[in-house]
Amino acid sequence: MDFIEICSKCGGKCCFEARPPISNKRLKILMENGIGPEFVEFGKYKHLKLRNDGYCVLFENGKCKIHKIKPETCVAGPITFDIKGGKLELYIKKETICPLVKFLKENEAVFREHLKIATEKIVELIKELDNGELEEILKIEEPETEKILEISLKELL
Ligand code: SF4
Repeated sequence: MDFIEICSKCGGKCCFEARPPISNKRLKILMENGIGPEFVEFGKYKHLKLRNDGYCVLFENGKCKIHKIKPETCVAGPITFDIKGGKLELYIKKETICPLVKFLKENEAVFREHLKIATEKIVELIKELDNGELEEILKIEEPETEKILEISLKELL
């Protein structure tokens, strides 16, 4: 099985209780593609809404309705991030919550390529968010993860 097959067979665990941050730039892209602000919750940070069943509002028929323009953290998954002491810390989710993790760990070249894309996307998001939004996002605990890398933010921004 490859990356895409694993994702499509999983049933969207990462889209359950997901509240991917939406930067102004991403909001513009979504709106240009017919996804209006009614799909976005404008709280302490902008994020996609959840439906009553707990899934992301854009999760439909077992997959993402906006795969090609999905938010940065969705592209980066199962890699996630934190910022501490001027460093961007990258984490990977535990195998128990994402079946892709086992595949990535067993395929070093794919893992490295995905880590590169995830880092680029996360940096893109960080640059687009205002400080207040970023602060709120960094408060979100992600206990089912392990750290894989840290990079000085100076090198990235
Ligand atoms: S935007 Fe797509 S990939 Fe991201 S949580 Fe929503 S349905 Fe899932």
